[in-house]
Amino acid sequence: MAWSGDPLWLADVLRAEGLKVIEHDGWKFRGHGDFGNVIGVLCHHTAGGGENDWRIVQNGRSDLPGPLAQLVLERDGTYRVIAAGVCWHAGRGSWNGWPTNNANYSVIGIEAVNSGTGSQPWPAVQLDAYKRGCAAILRRIGRGSGDCVAHREYSSEGKIDPWGIDMNAFRRDVQTIIDRKGDAPMSAAEVKQIQDFVKGFVGPIGSDVKDIREQLCGLGQRDAGGYKGWPQLNGATLVDAVAEVLKRLDALEAKDCPVINIPGFPDKAA
Ligand SMILES: [Zn+2]
Repeated sequence: MAWSGDPLWLADVLRAEGLKVIEHDGWKFRGHGDFGNVIGVLCHHTAGGGENDWRIVQNGRSDLPGPLAQLVLERDGTYRVIAAGVCWHAGRGSWNGWPTNNANYSVIGIEAVNSGTGSQPWPAVQLDAYKRGCAAILRRIGRGSGDCVAHREYSSEGKIDPWGIDMNAFRRDVQTIIDRKGDAPMSAAEVKQIQDFVKGFVGPIGSDVKDIREQLCGLGQRDAGGYKGWPQLNGATLVDAVAEVLKRLDALEAKDCPVINIPGFPDKAA
């Protein structure tokens, strides 16, 4: 299995998906050791439901030292990036392609703030961010939505989280987002390629592009506020002038005027 190391790209990937992100101090150095390879996302709820849930995820409990997950998803859709290293969240369980009873070293945990008792319906903005966050991570690691798993699906310890989310429907939506290639962030090389391409169209006076533009539209420069048209054509552009010529030829043709039979010039009716 390829080694990819800690997901130090987490915050960037989430932001590139258009999500709100809070990077907690020291997150890149927080964890219970280093990842070998990241192969999926495990979805949880915090079982709290309040604005301080993240503290337990970061600091742990008396029986379990933090961090307990790499990410906390707030009810307003904001992601808190807690840790880049391994976290204690998966427990015992199994899933196709994942290490049995040992997923912490292979998957990223997202703790979504929710009471988990049914007392807190998932806000649309949080659910949307949940799917987009999972999709962004899976796209980054080259995996499909089949590696986006509920803790209750992986766990052999009777977990129920995340409460109330139909994971098959969730995965369908996640896959749709993964497949939205146009939403993928552009690399620096791709940005430069586009910038260079655009520069070609706003080149200096005398550039090929400017010459072509003026041949079509008349003397002037777009940068100077527009084209003046061609003085030889009474200020018309080349296209407008040709259109006017054709109109007049049609008018002459309607009168059976022989003057339009120009040798070598294709007849309109031919
Ligand atoms: Zn859980």
